[in-house]
Amino acid sequence: MFQSSYIEISKSALQHNINFLKQEIGPDVQLSSVIKGNAYGHGIEPFATLAQQCGVNHFSVFSADEAQRLLHVINQPATVLIMGYLDNAELEWAIRQELEFFVFEQDRLLAAAKTAKASGKKAIVHLELETGMNRTGFEENALEEAKAILQEYEEHFILKGICTHFAGAESMQNHERVTRQLQLFREQVTKLKADGFTAAQLHTASSAATISYPQSRMNLVRVGIMQYGFWPSPETYSYYMSQREQKHDPLHRLINWKSHVMSLKHVAKGDYVGYGTSFQASRDMVLAIVPVGYSWGYSRSLSNHGHVLIKGQRAAVSGIVSMNTLTVDVTDIPSVAKGDEVVLLGKQGDQSITVASFAELSTQLNYELLTRLPMNIPRLVVA
Ligand SMILES: *Cc1c(COP(=O)(O)O)cnc(C)c1O
Repeated sequence: MFQSSYIEISKSALQHNINFLKQEIGPDVQLSSVIKGNAYGHGIEPFATLAQQCGVNHFSVFSADEAQRLLHVINQPATVLIMGYLDNAELEWAIRQELEFFVFEQDRLLAAAKTAKASGKKAIVHLELETGMNRTGFEENALEEAKAILQEYEEHFILKGICTHFAGAESMQNHERVTRQLQLFREQVTKLKADGFTAAQLHTASSAATISYPQSRMNLVRVGIMQYGFWPSPETYSYYMSQREQKHDPLHRLINWKSHVMSLKHVAKGDYVGYGTSFQASRDMVLAIVPVGYSWGYSRSLSNHGHVLIKGQRAAVSGIVSMNTLTVDVTDIPSVAKGDEVVLLGKQGDQSITVASFAELSTQLNYELLTRLPMNIPRLVVA
């Protein structure tokens, strides 16, 4: 079946980024590939398969359903860590599958203890500490309870990790808060150690912290956005580049979102194009209709603002983006024909439509834009 659009995922770009990240963190720090949010829109299944081929053997997901999707496609031994949502009813499954998971409240910890005891298999847990993000994590006063549970059910747990998450390491604005979090984390780890609770892996860093706070890397880094070739923020990119000699972006984007010209339309000067009157032809024009609209995640706010690439040239979105189509101006691009490739996001020739430009215009963060790429657009792996 022909699809109105598809998303290409580049294997060589991923290999390049993984190599870069591994080189950056060195051999003593483990890389966990964060694939929540449908692998930041790249598709858990194709992405994880590629990541394994590129030497990744540790994955972090948000929830049990993502872990399940991952387990279906991995074909080499890998560690799977659930960082967020896991219903108590799913604990037995998770423990049986030897999945690792965050514990950040007494309820889950106790349920895990009881489930592990009943199933005769150890729960492999990462104790998440509250250090200032105020999302999930044991607060200091709740740690007493947690320690009591860990102690009581000692033989049913492997305390694999102790971890926390920063409240915005991608912005210097949060510098004080992040530094404070790091300090609190260290203090709490020290106290836990004094009480006999140690873990093989201490981890706190996401992409931004990995770059901007190398001291936060510890034993493992949980890297999401950078594997896909994007920086957590322009600030993180500038910071990284300011430390280096080389002046080119060390990351490569994996994603190219493509469609094709569905139909061509000639309009006369003065005609309105699309819904309403927001676009009036300033001259006789040739328009290309592309079978992608906001129902496919192409934001309506890109109406009269966005660009696509056709024949290696930029073509402006003309008129309102509709549910299933958008219209672009190809008047100045010679001999555009039905079926010609259209790049919505990514490269064509030496031109590119970056997520940043796309996201800025549609006021989305690159994270948001990527993860909102609909699941039902097919993902194709390319070299
Ligand atoms: C999403 C997430 C990460 C990865 O963040 P990036 O900025 O994409 O690298 C790491 N840790 C936790 C707990 C997360 O939720």
